[in-house]
Amino acid sequence: TPRVVVVGSGQAGFEAAVSLRGHGFDGAISIIGDESGVPYQRPPLSKAYLHCEPDRDSLALRPAQYFADHGIELRCGKPVVRLHRIDRRVELVDGSTAEYHHLILATGARNRRLPVPGSDAAGVYYLRTAVEAEALTAQMKACSSLVVIGAGFIGLEVAAAARKNGLSVTVVEAMARPMARALTETMSQFFSSLHAAHGVDLRLSTGVERIVVDDGHARGVITSDGETIPADAVVVGIGVVPNTEVAEQAELRVANGIVVDAHLRTSDERISAIGDCAAFPGVSDEGLVRLESVQNAVDQARCIAAQLTGTETAYRSVPWFWSEQYEAKLQIAGLTTGTDTSVVRGSVADGAFSVFCFRQGRLLGVESVNKPRDHMAARKMLACTMPLTPEQARDVNFDLKHALS
Ligand code: FAD
Repeated sequence: TPRVVVVGSGQAGFEAAVSLRGHGFDGAISIIGDESGVPYQRPPLSKAYLHCEPDRDSLALRPAQYFADHGIELRCGKPVVRLHRIDRRVELVDGSTAEYHHLILATGARNRRLPVPGSDAAGVYYLRTAVEAEALTAQMKACSSLVVIGAGFIGLEVAAAARKNGLSVTVVEAMARPMARALTETMSQFFSSLHAAHGVDLRLSTGVERIVVDDGHARGVITSDGETIPADAVVVGIGVVPNTEVAEQAELRVANGIVVDAHLRTSDERISAIGDCAAFPGVSDEGLVRLESVQNAVDQARCIAAQLTGTETAYRSVPWFWSEQYEAKLQIAGLTTGTDTSVVRGSVADGAFSVFCFRQGRLLGVESVNKPRDHMAARKMLACTMPLTPEQARDVNFDLKHALS
């Protein structure tokens, strides 16, 4: 029987296995993951999970029984340390092995560590796994102030959850605006004001020199301006690095991610890479792209499952993403970096609007706050490359849904 081995039990690895069965694949499937327990979702970890009673079962993508019922072997708790391409075998840390006909690398990403003195002290938290979220939740219950390093999506979601828990919160960000890597200035501005209105002290264009450590425990940070910001705990959210070591050691091509072609195949056609660990060719001229989102993990997993069951299909899904901070639900369709013209539809002051981003007259992406309809319409428009002008986009009387039909 054909045998598919998936390395990584996160969103992408899970979805690949489920989707293979969904497409009628009746060979053997094994998921090998280094985290213990069943695959689970990460988005709640920086949102509701931080201010509710942690309940691991609520995160599970499926209960353990599901995997048994569908003939999906879960080998969790030990990492794959070596990939033997010639005899098509992966080796786990305990020396056990698994043979494959096709291998799916879904190893995800890990947090970038903060390279300053004191960052390994107790009371410095990172957030990627359920275990880390539970530690942070417990700490937040026991303290009254927090410094968050990094105003990316995760840092700001943690800041919002901490405010909800009544902590005083300072966010320190090296760049001039929050979420600058992914969002337009208009949207960054909106979220700066939102956090300020909720009492967060947001320090932009500010680096961190060191963590203040007292008796082995973090007590705050010293910024690049030489200022000491005291706090009971520190959270670091400064981005991730893809887990590419196993691929690299097996001499697959790696460049900020495991490099794949439009069919998500690595330089070895019997090996695919999907999700946060994969660098794939963008649909326009942007070169290799690596995305960190549930949409990308799920859609790439489905794409590879379709291919392995006989449907040759290239990956060309419209990216989308969401974040939740206070009462603002942010949704992004497409990618808005590289935009030359952006227009606002709706009311920024009312906290319900979208930013439509164009490049050379073509719609690139749309950022929406509390405008789920704009978001859904945008995803459809981007999928069918419907022509839309900035004038139409900003005109709230121009019916997007109607234009699509
Ligand atoms: P991962 O989920 O990272 O899974 C990879 C797994 O592989 C991990 O368990 C890892 O330990 C394991 N692994 C790595 N190397 C090995 C090895 N050698 N052997 C065995 N196992 C290995 N996305 C959104 O779209 N919206 C959100 O709101 C959102 N919020 C998020 C909040 C948080 C706190 C985090 C951390 C992420 C969030 N994301 C969000 C991103 C989203 O969760 C990721 O894009 C998604 O989990 C990627 O799935 P993946 O399977 O590629 O990687």
